[in-house]
Amino acid sequence: MKRSRDGGRGASLPVVERRGQEAAEAHGPRPRVVVSECLGFAAVRYNGQILKSRFVDALREHVVFVQVCPEVGMGMGVPRDPVRVVLKDGEARLHQPDTGRNWTGEMRAFSDDFLGGLDAVDGFILKSKSPSCGISDTKIYAGEQGGSPVGRSAGLFARAVQGAYPWAAIQDEGRLTNLRLRHHFLTHVWTLARLRRAEASEEPSALVRFQAEHKLLLLSLSPGGQRELGRIVAEAGVRPFPELIQRYRERLGRVFARPPRAGPTVDALHHAFGYVSDELDPSERTYFLDLLERFREGRAPLPTLLAVLRAWIVRFGVGYLEDQRLFEPYPPDLVDLSSSGDGQMVDVGPRPTRSRRTR
Ligand code: SF4
Repeated sequence: MKRSRDGGRGASLPVVERRGQEAAEAHGPRPRVVVSECLGFAAVRYNGQILKSRFVDALREHVVFVQVCPEVGMGMGVPRDPVRVVLKDGEARLHQPDTGRNWTGEMRAFSDDFLGGLDAVDGFILKSKSPSCGISDTKIYAGEQGGSPVGRSAGLFARAVQGAYPWAAIQDEGRLTNLRLRHHFLTHVWTLARLRRAEASEEPSALVRFQAEHKLLLLSLSPGGQRELGRIVAEAGVRPFPELIQRYRERLGRVFARPPRAGPTVDALHHAFGYVSDELDPSERTYFLDLLERFREGRAPLPTLLAVLRAWIVRFGVGYLEDQRLFEPYPPDLVDLSSSGDGQMVDVGPRPTRSRRTR
């Protein structure tokens, strides 16, 4: 195969391979995601086991995974005596009841070292409930031996991650079985990967374009946040680009800090619907508005509404909306309507009656 001087990744690629590469990049560069190593990569659990996550498996071909087992990384073996998080003098410590050993210093040193040495990263998928990796549901104990947990919070490694990457997408494999949280996580991860691409270009115009393409997505998450991000972008070309990107990323992290509320999302979808509604049959209009109401009530999944709207956007060639990342924020292969629940039923209602009109 003929190669160009850039190693063959440019214009001299065969057409089929180039199209494949362009399709793979259509949603942005491959995100980089740090993952707990026991989630399907290596048998590193305290009991020598490995776990299975269908979601992590599905992501393998779409992201660059960076695996980590903080407990093995800081010097524990496999298998090993389990550890627990103990609250002592207001401080969370990592204690090993069977040996009486305190591993807090080692865990902090490992976390600082590992996180400080990471290349660009967009998200983290950490093991739920673990004293090291759990992001919010780890049992917290008052004593070093026995006793019942006094609450639940983050494990020690996860605390370091949350402190070092407040703007990143951070979830555990348990919550990612929920459709709403999974869609939000994937949207967050791919949005950050696209922002990295804008940053790498060192072109203020790339940030302007990024903001324009994400306008409806940002409005669906936080209209106030969208306006604030717009004000940051308005300084493109005036302020140093690295400073702008840093401020933008931090503000973007706050926009993504929680899954979208129904209200702003319904407003954004209704706004987009206005671009195609005149072209639709009455039954199609009724179908969509009914679906929107079901979504507002938590009875229809967001990816379904986005897919319906996207089909109409393509059919009617609405250029402005075709560019909006709201409608396909991540590769469609990853859309999976199964859900662990949390009020998110997969109920898309009756289909529209068949139209007599043909287009
Ligand atoms: S939960 Fe974290 S520390 Fe525990 S085995 Fe998995 S990767 Fe290692």
